[in-house]
Amino acid sequence: MARVALVTGGSRGIGAAISVALKNAGYTVAANYAGNDEAASKFTEETGIPTYKWSVADYDSCVEGIAKVEADLGPVDILVNNAGITRDAPFHKMTPEQWHQVIDTNLSGVFNMTHPIWPGMRERKFGRIITISSINGQKGQFAQVNYAASKAGDLGITKSLAQEGARFGITANAVCPGYIATEMVMAVPEKVRESIISQIPAGRLGEPAEIARCVTFLASDESEFINGSTISANGAQFFV
Ligand code: NDP
Repeated sequence: MARVALVTGGSRGIGAAISVALKNAGYTVAANYAGNDEAASKFTEETGIPTYKWSVADYDSCVEGIAKVEADLGPVDILVNNAGITRDAPFHKMTPEQWHQVIDTNLSGVFNMTHPIWPGMRERKFGRIITISSINGQKGQFAQVNYAASKAGDLGITKSLAQEGARFGITANAVCPGYIATEMVMAVPEKVRESIISQIPAGRLGEPAEIARCVTFLASDESEFINGSTISANGAQFFV
């Protein structure tokens, strides 16, 4: 039987590329999404990958959603925590609402998704937890106190889960993309985007498929001894 992979935010952007790459690698894939029904139906039509709607920010919805996926496809072997949002503002203007929205989705979302899946992985002695963090979680970013905190937190979750999961055949790793050409990045003003690109030694944005290839490798049985690691895929952007 093919292993089952669940990708949060898996019907658009980087998540969609991950879902498709995992399907092409032979996994049975389910893609979760938050609310963009049109994009989700189009994605299912084009790829044959089923989509499931719930918010990763809500624990009970995750429990329900995961149960539905597992009833349809079987136990989840590979969880890709990809869903993420930005609500940027300079710190002095950042509202508590902006702080909580980002933390609830990008950080608590990883807890909410991993916690219900974890006991089954321990029992079956196999699991792959792959979390999409960000270069901005590694280095911080102007106007992204909320986002940088959430993505740095994801790295802490990953390293801790790795230590708890290792003896059960579970690995937890993170991928830190630099700037990738998705709607999230294309939504920033062109001038800002040009200045971002000028700071990337590779001279270009990354492609979603380049992140998907990192994930496919970490999902494989062969990656077992890589545990608690972070793969930076950012075109050689230096950070301290
Ligand atoms: P997009 O905005 O293109 O897609 C985000 C996806 O996440 C959508 O499928 C969206 O669902 C889903 N989503 C958002 N909130 C929730 C939620 N509460 N519950 C479930 N799903 C949710 O983002 P990207 O593809 O650009 O980013 C994917 C990940 O990569 C994010 O974690 C992001 O932080 C990270 N990243 C991105 C970088 C980039 O340059 N693009 C750089 C570094 C990291 P719906 O379609 O319903 O809206």
